[in-house]
Amino acid sequence: MKQHNGILASLVSVALLVSGCNAQQAGNAGSRSSTDRTEAGTIDAAMMPERAVISDDEYVAHVLKLQERLANQGYTVRLENPFVVIGNEDAEMVQQRCEQTIRWAVQRLKNQYFPRDPDHIIEIWLFGDKESYETGCESLTGRKATTPFGFYSAAEKKLIMNIATGGGTLVHEIVHPFMAANFPACPSWFNEGLASLYEQSGSRDDRIIGYTNWRLRSLQLAIDDDRLPPFETMMKTTTREFYDDPSGTNYAQARYLCYYLQETGKLDDFYQGFHKNAADDPSGMQTLQTVLETTDLEAFQKSWQEWVMKLKF
Ligand SMILES: [Zn+2]
Repeated sequence: MKQHNGILASLVSVALLVSGCNAQQAGNAGSRSSTDRTEAGTIDAAMMPERAVISDDEYVAHVLKLQERLANQGYTVRLENPFVVIGNEDAEMVQQRCEQTIRWAVQRLKNQYFPRDPDHIIEIWLFGDKESYETGCESLTGRKATTPFGFYSAAEKKLIMNIATGGGTLVHEIVHPFMAANFPACPSWFNEGLASLYEQSGSRDDRIIGYTNWRLRSLQLAIDDDRLPPFETMMKTTTREFYDDPSGTNYAQARYLCYYLQETGKLDDFYQGFHKNAADDPSGMQTLQTVLETTDLEAFQKSWQEWVMKLKF
C-alpha cells in the first residue's frame, strides 16, 4: 500500500509538473495529426501554432520509465518542457541547469525563431564529468563519444552532454532539434551557423545574443591566408560537404555570417525570409542578397572579412 501510494504520489507530481509546463499549450494535448506536417520549406513560421504534440500521459510514462530504470543510480530526472532531462550531478545542480541553461535558452529561441516544439520526446543527458560522460555515451548509443563536449543524435532522440565542459555546447545542441521541427529544409551551413552562434551567448533586451568566441581565431587566420571560400561555395555545400570541410572553416564562416547579421539587426529577417523561400532558394543565397540589399556577394564578403579582422575574442 505504501509503495502504491508512493507511485501514485510521483505520478501525480509528474502530472502536475507536465500540466504546469504545458499550461500555455492546453487544449490539444495529445493530438498528433499527420496533416500537421507540411512539406519542407513551405511553412511560414508566423503561421505555425505553438501546440503540444506530446500528450501529458506520454511525458508521465516516459519520466516514470526512466525513474524506474535509473532507480538508485544517482540520477535526477526532470521534465523541462519540451525535453526530459536526466543528470548525474546532485539534484539541485540538475535543477539549476534546467532553469538557467535549458529553460533560459528554450524560451528565447522559441520567441525568436521556433514556435513549434519537436513532435517526439527528446532526452537531454547531463553527465557531470568526463568519465561518466564517456561510459554513459557508450551505454546509451553503443558507440564511443567522438567529441569531448557533447552532441545531439536525432536518430536516438537524445542530447548527450559532458556538462562539466560548460553550458555553451548544450545551447548549441538545443538549436538542432528545434531547427528540425521548424525548418526541416534548413541546410547544414545555417543549422550549424545559428547553433554555433549561441554556443557563446547571453541576453540583450531579453533576447538571446551570440558573442564572439573561440572560433574567431581560426577564421581570422583563414582570412589572413586568403583561403576562405566564397560565401556561395560555403552556402551551397551539401550536408556531407559541409561536415567534411577539408579547410576546417565552414563552422566559423557560417557562425560569423550569422553574427554579422545579428549585429546589423538583419538576422531575424534573414531567418524568416529564408524559412519562407527555402523551396525556391535552398542555399539561402537569394535571401542573403535581399537582406543585405546587394547582388554583389563578392564585394560584401570583402567588407565582411575586413569587419571580421577587427573583431576580438
Ligand atoms: Zn551542431
